[in-house]
Amino acid sequence: LFAGACDFLKGVVAMDGMPPDDRIEVCFAGRSNVGKSSLINAVTGRKALARASNTPGRTQEINFFTLGEDRYLVDLPGYGFAEAPKAKVDQWQQLLKAYLAGRATLRRVFLLIDGRHGAKKVDEEIMSLLDASAVTFQVVLTKADKPRGDDLEKAIERTRTVLRQHPAAFPELIVTSSEKKTGIETLRAVIAGME
Ligand code: GDP
Repeated sequence: LFAGACDFLKGVVAMDGMPPDDRIEVCFAGRSNVGKSSLINAVTGRKALARASNTPGRTQEINFFTLGEDRYLVDLPGYGFAEAPKAKVDQWQQLLKAYLAGRATLRRVFLLIDGRHGAKKVDEEIMSLLDASAVTFQVVLTKADKPRGDDLEKAIERTRTVLRQHPAAFPELIVTSSEKKTGIETLRAVIAGME
């Protein structure tokens, strides 16, 4: 769908570095290690598109990729590092708030949540921030190949319960595995269908 037409554009650390808002934009967010890079690579059909930019201590950039002719894919740094200094977290939250509030072309945030556990407290904090910014978000469960027995169903149910408390939440969640390539086509179709 987007193969061969997805390229890294730039990493942004401040609002004045943002590319012009002349394309429809979707954004990927999630806790560090949730499987975000793997999912972005699977969705775009490229091997090493999402750079490993979420190592603790590294500069936290908002990474912009062009997706086909008329879209941007935006990769937010992973959140939830316990060891991140408060000043850094605050600075990052300021940029994130400014981005979410100030980006008219941002259609949806895909909020990645680990399919083994469902939404955690730090995920709920991001959901509240998205509510406050009035940006629609859709939960994408990752690593769906990992849970055993009915653990995946339980994580889905738990996450749905959380979503009902968040006005900005899109009610349907997407269940994915980058490893088994499940849910990838669904996610691609959602992105491609966005107007
Ligand atoms: P990020 O920090 O959110 O970008 O996460 P990565 O994409 O780097 O993945 C973190 C770890 O989870 C890596 O060891 C991946 O191999 C693993 N992982 C990512 N996606 C999947 C998946 O769909 N299934 C399984 N079993 N492991 C995955």
